[in-house]
Amino acid sequence: MSSGDYYEVLGVPRNADEKEIKKAYRNLARKYHPDVCKEKGAEEKFKFINEAYSILSDQQKRNQYDQLGHENYTNASKGSYSGAGGSPGGAGFSADFSGFGDIFDFFGGGFGGGRRSRGPQPGSDILMRLQINLEDAAFGADKEIEVMHNEACSSCGGTGSENKKLKTCPACGGSGQVQQMNQTVFGQFIRMNTCSQCHGRGKTPEKTCTSCRGSGTNRIKRKVSVHIPAGVETGMQLRMEGYGEAGDYGASNGDLYIEMQVRAHQKFTRNGDNLETYVEVSPAMAVIGSFVEIETIDKRHVEMKIPPGIQNGIALKIQGEGVRKRGRHGDLLVKVKVIIPKSPGSEEKELYERLLEIEGKNREGSRKGFFSQFMGKK
Ligand SMILES: [Zn+2]
Ligand SMILES: [Zn+2]
Repeated sequence: MSSGDYYEVLGVPRNADEKEIKKAYRNLARKYHPDVCKEKGAEEKFKFINEAYSILSDQQKRNQYDQLGHENYTNASKGSYSGAGGSPGGAGFSADFSGFGDIFDFFGGGFGGGRRSRGPQPGSDILMRLQINLEDAAFGADKEIEVMHNEACSSCGGTGSENKKLKTCPACGGSGQVQQMNQTVFGQFIRMNTCSQCHGRGKTPEKTCTSCRGSGTNRIKRKVSVHIPAGVETGMQLRMEGYGEAGDYGASNGDLYIEMQVRAHQKFTRNGDNLETYVEVSPAMAVIGSFVEIETIDKRHVEMKIPPGIQNGIALKIQGEGVRKRGRHGDLLVKVKVIIPKSPGSEEKELYERLLEIEGKNREGSRKGFFSQFMGKK
């Protein structure tokens, strides 16, 4: 049984609380535990019950599951390895990039950890953080990064055996598991543990490979080309399928997750799809109106009109010069900062004094006392 919904599996309503879920899980797990239940398909069912519980008992995972639906949620972790040792050239991204941001924020470690106990184990996922600047986040970029990971040993093709031949594991007789008595919350069981000699593979190298000492993998530094799509934000993760740790011989590799960290920019800040910056204007420019040259984040120069009577702190919009995300462009918002001259030249000063006079005349009455006092001191 591998279809259906996690809520259906546990037989709880979609709004079930933690207690209900736990109770349903305990009942079902007791019923379908493979050591107890001899019903056909019980083991599969037991696994699925555990899988359902591992998601629904974790509030964060449950939210994502509810949001995405069963199909999308479970599909997001599937993938196969392509290009072992080859040059990836940035082609390894999963195809469903349109869902990026919604789907890529989870599955950091995958929930597959405890799901398989027998046979070749898939490789673990790797999480890396990548610092990029705001320009790259806004417009996208291609980067080359170095990743330390376990890669299938080239001398033995990942078998761990010098002649690439394997023999049945003497410790477990090929089952990959050994029996162990175990006390659990459901009572005493004979528990099957992964064989430590073959790590669950059931097979060991006929002649141990000297290059990887029989492990089938080597630790290497690998260059990976990463295409950063335009519009990424801090915390978003890109998934590169199959670029994680090598799996056991015959099993798939883990995935590589690259978490974006966008560095702050000196002149620009990001607000959703918009970029924000500022421009300094003089009081005269603000009053009369003017044109200013604005440098965009990709260092082009565009002319912007300052309309007469602009107020300090007002933002003017330059359309289409924001973040370029999936074809639609955000805008550049330019905040006007009116800068008051601290030491104007003598001609300017005269003009300001003239202005003051005019303003003073206009403000005769309540302000009169203040101005006469001011002039008198001089
Ligand atoms: Zn074994
Ligand atoms: Zn080897």
